[in-house]
Amino acid sequence: MSKPHIVILGAGYGGLVTAIRLQKKMRRREMDVTLVNKHEYHYMTTHLHMPAAGTDHHENARVAISDLIDERKIQFKKSTVQQILPAEKKVVLEDSVLTYDYLVIGLGSETETFGIPGMREYAMSIKSINSVRFIRQHISYMFAKSKMVPNRKDYLTFVVGGAGFTGTEFVGELADRIPFLCRKFDVDPAHVRIYNVEASPSALPPGLPDDLIAYGMDVMRRKGVQYKLSTAIKACTPEGVILDSGELIRTGTIVWAGGIRGNSLLQEAGFDVQRGRVKVDPYLRSYQFPDTYITGDCSIVTSPEGTPYPANAQIAVQQGYNAARNILQTVRGKELKPFVYDYKGTVASLGRWDAVGLLKVKKVKGRWASFIKKMIDARYLFLIGGIPLIWKKMIWKQKGAN
Ligand code: FAD
Repeated sequence: MSKPHIVILGAGYGGLVTAIRLQKKMRRREMDVTLVNKHEYHYMTTHLHMPAAGTDHHENARVAISDLIDERKIQFKKSTVQQILPAEKKVVLEDSVLTYDYLVIGLGSETETFGIPGMREYAMSIKSINSVRFIRQHISYMFAKSKMVPNRKDYLTFVVGGAGFTGTEFVGELADRIPFLCRKFDVDPAHVRIYNVEASPSALPPGLPDDLIAYGMDVMRRKGVQYKLSTAIKACTPEGVILDSGELIRTGTIVWAGGIRGNSLLQEAGFDVQRGRVKVDPYLRSYQFPDTYITGDCSIVTSPEGTPYPANAQIAVQQGYNAARNILQTVRGKELKPFVYDYKGTVASLGRWDAVGLLKVKKVKGRWASFIKKMIDARYLFLIGGIPLIWKKMIWKQKGAN
């Protein structure tokens, strides 16, 4: 009997963990597994706000996939997925076509611009190693440019759209980096402006209690961040950002962290989607195509009360475990296990030495929270690469981001 072929699309949190778990748990010659990813490295999206602001090197946010998987057990294919054909059980890559028995889709998210005019053209977003390298270079360039063309306040004005998880973490790092850039480029810090624009009345990740939000916003304001809450961005233009109040903030830098949607390949493949994401069954499979498992930002999982859980790395990792287990159960003709989300908490950084969050229901803030945040990162590195990876990425790490 021929072995089943499992194809995993995307080596992000969900896809990589599925591959690592299959590698660990499958028996010899039980199945063929192919992992497809557009880069030869895995990147930790949760780390990207730092290299984007320039407070850490982007090398510390990525790991070669060959260091994480055993290529005798998992075949890695560096390629870009162009089309998924679930009815034919095929995936079209840029250079070949794969057929599969079971598919895992972990292709992550795309930026949701909500149709705001000019957002796609004039804003940058924190999405990948390439995008954060670009943002960091752009910020330095604006500082350099401000010295060449005096009296252009817009060069030293930075606007971040969205004050949720990504927006907050990036703004915190950016505020920490400004003093260094001012020294480097002989710029008076009083000339630098950072605006964080948010459509909802409150900043920081949703679900945090009021006192932690107040704490977080106070920390950010003391770093020089100016909030514009209950304020939507109406348009982005080459001159700057137009707010719904009609105000124009003149700026040369717009970073959009206001929303995500699932990878558009799913909608193009005919999956029923809500903002590009697919509601999955209790075992993480597509209702339409039960041979397809969907993890991470591409999927929607609801709580027992029917509320969708927010897309985050924590749930994507847990889904990776569950998808791998259910594939093994299926291949072995055993009963599937429903996915149960074990919410461990949320900690958002407010720059290098400060953070705020909830561990289950316990509130944490300040340096202690920042330490916990680093422990969460270390735990993930341990999970995918053991102690040597923690050593490489957190202790003996690449320096020289500036
Ligand atoms: P991803 O990790 O995004 O991986 C998708 C993979 O698919 C990537 O490797 C990509 O290269 C690959 N891919 C995409 N398209 C193709 C294609 N066409 N062909 C081949 N490969 C492709 N969550 C938390 O829980 N805690 C945090 O502290 C946190 N902080 C964050 C900070 C920032 C700045 C950002 C941007 C996000 C943060 N998140 C956080 C959210 C979290 O990172 C995402 O929810 C998580 O990355 C989703 O995992 P995933 O497996 O769905 O996709």
